[in-house]
Amino acid sequence: MDLNDASLFRQQAYIGGAWVDADNAKTFNVTNPATGAQLGTVPQMGRGETARAIQAANEALPAWRAKTAKERCAILKRWFDLVMANQKDLAALMTAEQGKPLTEAMGEIVYGASFIEWFAEEGKRLYGETIPTNAPDRRIQVIKQPIGVVASITPWNFPNAMITRKCAPALAAGCTVVAKPAEDTPYSALALAELAERAGIPKGVFNVVTGIAQEIGAEITSNPTVRKVSFTGSTAVGKLLMKQCADTVKKVSLELGGNAPFIVFDDADLDAAILGVMASKYRNAGQTCVCANRIYVQDGVYEAFAAKMAVAVGALKVGDGSEGGVSQGPLINQAAIDKVERLVADAVAKGAKVVVGGTRHELGGTFYTPTILTDVTSDMACSSEEIFGPVAPLYRFSDEADVIQKANDTPFGLAAYFYARDVGRVFRVAEALEYGIVGINEGIISTEVAPFGGVKESGLGREGGKYGIEEFVEVKYLCLGGI
Ligand code: ADP
Repeated sequence: MDLNDASLFRQQAYIGGAWVDADNAKTFNVTNPATGAQLGTVPQMGRGETARAIQAANEALPAWRAKTAKERCAILKRWFDLVMANQKDLAALMTAEQGKPLTEAMGEIVYGASFIEWFAEEGKRLYGETIPTNAPDRRIQVIKQPIGVVASITPWNFPNAMITRKCAPALAAGCTVVAKPAEDTPYSALALAELAERAGIPKGVFNVVTGIAQEIGAEITSNPTVRKVSFTGSTAVGKLLMKQCADTVKKVSLELGGNAPFIVFDDADLDAAILGVMASKYRNAGQTCVCANRIYVQDGVYEAFAAKMAVAVGALKVGDGSEGGVSQGPLINQAAIDKVERLVADAVAKGAKVVVGGTRHELGGTFYTPTILTDVTSDMACSSEEIFGPVAPLYRFSDEADVIQKANDTPFGLAAYFYARDVGRVFRVAEALEYGIVGINEGIISTEVAPFGGVKESGLGREGGKYGIEEFVEVKYLCLGGI
């Protein structure tokens, strides 16, 4: 890892404006998934350090909350500028700890930074309301106030953007934050903290703790000072955190797993659909919660679509993400590749055909060959589990109503995609899909200007757009009598 500014590589946690080790001085190793090489260590913290970070955030809250939105905006914009100015280093750090190709990491830094810029501005527009009164001697007003100390728990697949998507709106609204990054990717988070400090975010306003997830999570969810937990990760952990938050009745936002259908109708522009499915399926080697997980192709175009997709997938270059031209990095860890292997074996055993790939890659480690399976059916495990790897299962369908029923036949409801040109169909299908996000003739849907989030067991709350900041405020009703 070759950084222009080596001081962005921080191996300590950041609490109350200080770079600190664990109380017991224990650390854990962080490795590069492409090479297995150790990148460094970070503190193995637990409940005690987390409680101190929460306390630091609470102590910083009154002064941060008291600033005007414009003052907070100015500081956040400096943070945005610094992230952009250090884009290359942040991307290199990310590729080293996460494995995604450098071009994708560069893109994620821009995407992550966009939330800082967007919410710096949105903070100025947290308008209240005056409500027509119910009595002549009364006036009724509604104001929005920062919810208080916020905890953010984030996964490894977007080591930068998942943090900014939660923390930027929280900070812009006047909240202070304790962020816990994933064990696999702490350095992107710590680099953000370094830049936050340089931007002038005051001590204690933004804290990062690294360490034992269960212990940090137990403190975050039970500590009454934390008023809001915003989590992105697996459905199982999201459910656990929601249960744990019940005792202190915290607000929760959850962005959990998906099982995205990607439907290609006979009237689709096939070349556009191929571009869309490649972007949706193979970005980050298939490791995003909005990756196409079930690709339904209508009879009339099934063969042509499979043939075109096989050509596109065959051209993907697998390798170390820091090398030029690579579009598929390694999977994040051993458990990830074991899961992909299990799902492919199960599908093949039940009758699926491997058109491309289907095996671990010759590079070894956690590299998996981009794969297409055809003749996939709903009894195969890959139709109900999130694959989180570069495997595209193709299902054949004939009828619109039937494919909508199949697409919705899951406890999840994050993203769905479909390709069609008939305008009636476009509206029918878009409205019938039980998902929080629908890409229509579009495979990449993430943007800071729009609300991102799921329905059903894919989560609660929305991130981005004008909605994202509402998750971090409380609505207060003022009733002024005796006028
Ligand atoms: P993934 O399968 O994507 O790794 P996880 O839900 O396990 O998803 O992880 C997402 C984030 O949740 C990570 O930061 C992880 O450390 C954290 N996490 C995992 N288990 C817990 C827990 N019991 N309490 C709090 N955080 C947890």
